[in-house]
Amino acid sequence: MPDFLDEAQLELQQRAHDLGQRLAAIDTKSDYPEKLRDEVRGLSKEAGIFSLTQPRDYGGSAGSSMDLTIVRDALGQWNVGHMPGVFGPSPGLLTQASTELKATFLDRYLSGEITSGFGFTEPSDAPRHTWAASDGEDLIVNGAKSYVTGGSDADFINTLVELDDVGPAMIVIETDRPGVSIDRRFGSLDGSHHASFLFTDVRVPRTHLIGEAGTGLSRALEQVNAVRMAIAADCVGLCGFTCELIATRLKKLEVKGGNSNALRIQFGRMRTQAFAARSATYRTARLIDAGENSVNEVMASKILATETAADLVDSAIQIVGGEALIESHPLASIFRRVRATRLAEGPTDLLHANISRGHLDLDVGRI
Ligand SMILES: Cc1cc2nc3c(=O)[nH]c(=O)nc-3n(C[C@H](O)[C@H](O)[C@H](O)COP(=O)(O)OP(=O)(O)OC[C@H]3O[C@@H](n4cnc5c(N)ncnc54)[C@H](O)[C@@H]3O)c2cc1C
Repeated sequence: MPDFLDEAQLELQQRAHDLGQRLAAIDTKSDYPEKLRDEVRGLSKEAGIFSLTQPRDYGGSAGSSMDLTIVRDALGQWNVGHMPGVFGPSPGLLTQASTELKATFLDRYLSGEITSGFGFTEPSDAPRHTWAASDGEDLIVNGAKSYVTGGSDADFINTLVELDDVGPAMIVIETDRPGVSIDRRFGSLDGSHHASFLFTDVRVPRTHLIGEAGTGLSRALEQVNAVRMAIAADCVGLCGFTCELIATRLKKLEVKGGNSNALRIQFGRMRTQAFAARSATYRTARLIDAGENSVNEVMASKILATETAADLVDSAIQIVGGEALIESHPLASIFRRVRATRLAEGPTDLLHANISRGHLDLDVGRI
């Protein structure tokens, strides 16, 4: 529940709202994306929000799942959570890397000197999953990854491979290694940029494996879970933003003496849906922080938050009318971003199927 927060959480929530208000006032139409990122990063650091996604060993403040949910929800309510530079680079899978691998990549990554991508999704017509074969102290990687966000500029890709005779494994592959090539660069509806990669006999030292080989899929899923929660919390905040936008509109209409009974019913439906999605996401954050198995609850929260946000923004556009479809209108921009969240990090149908499997085959998951 987003209620009964303790004093520290209430203070964090207030700080996030203050930051949200300041970020919402920035002119984002700048021709200099780097300048915008620097300004956002500066304000976020000042507010003590930037470091929440970074580990304490590296100077971060390592926010709990609840801390991050509170902050993302608050920033979503100002429609600014997606701005570049709000959160510091998170080590993700690299926290589980060997000391040697950390020494090579982690410091430079956390300071922003180098960037990474996440290679999970593969072309639907791939003859087999990307695989790695042993060759002495090295591995030889072949295959393709089709949807690597930020891949064009990435210095390395955390890549899921099938390691011969062992199973799934995560491996760090530098993008300048011989045999790594970008097949295609593309943008998606939400404004983010991606690349598809080909790996042709790419020689990578075995020491680039992240953690024990054979645990790759569960490691990748840990990362996916964290991102699913981030998406859910942001969407919950966007539900709040959308509801407030419609509330302001209804109040104005009523002051002018307009009849808004049908709209009032529709607005009540929107708030009810937002209540359910927000409650579920906070409940899941508490379960994660209590160390409970929360894989199914994270999936359910991601589904509820993204589907609710999509439904609410669609209704809001219908209520506001054509003005909401103008490119620069906040609802038009939210519509595009929220649409992508229903596919990214697991499409809704697939997550529903996994939740069924959780209960029917594995006896896990709560309602
Ligand atoms: C903005 C964005 C950023 C992304 N970033 C990354 C990234 O950085 N790295 C990365 O690896 N990937 C990334 N992806 C890819 C994303 O993870 C995939 O698009 C997503 O997992 C779906 O895979 P797919 O596109 O191959 O579609 P498919 O898996 O083919 O799914 C298509 C449809 O079929 C349904 N479906 C598929 N299988 C089943 C099933 N078993 N049961 C029921 N229904 C099913 C799905 O629900 C969906 O409706 C990104 C995607 C987006 C939109």
